[in-house]
Amino acid sequence: MNAESVVKCGVNTCTYWKDMRCHAQSIEVNPKTPTAKTSAETECTTFKSR
Ligand code: SF4
Repeated sequence: MNAESVVKCGVNTCTYWKDMRCHAQSIEVNPKTPTAKTSAETECTTFKSR
């Protein structure tokens, strides 16, 4: 298996973003509410503003 995973991301204001991809070594995603049921109710905790 390829050791390098690809995370597509559209958050171009993030430090780790380049060419529509995430370049962080790992990311953490968490629910915005305790009852999240759609992707819109989740968020990338690793996001860091440029
Ligand atoms: S850390 Fe999160 S928001 Fe930032 S580029 Fe990676 S996936 Fe996107």
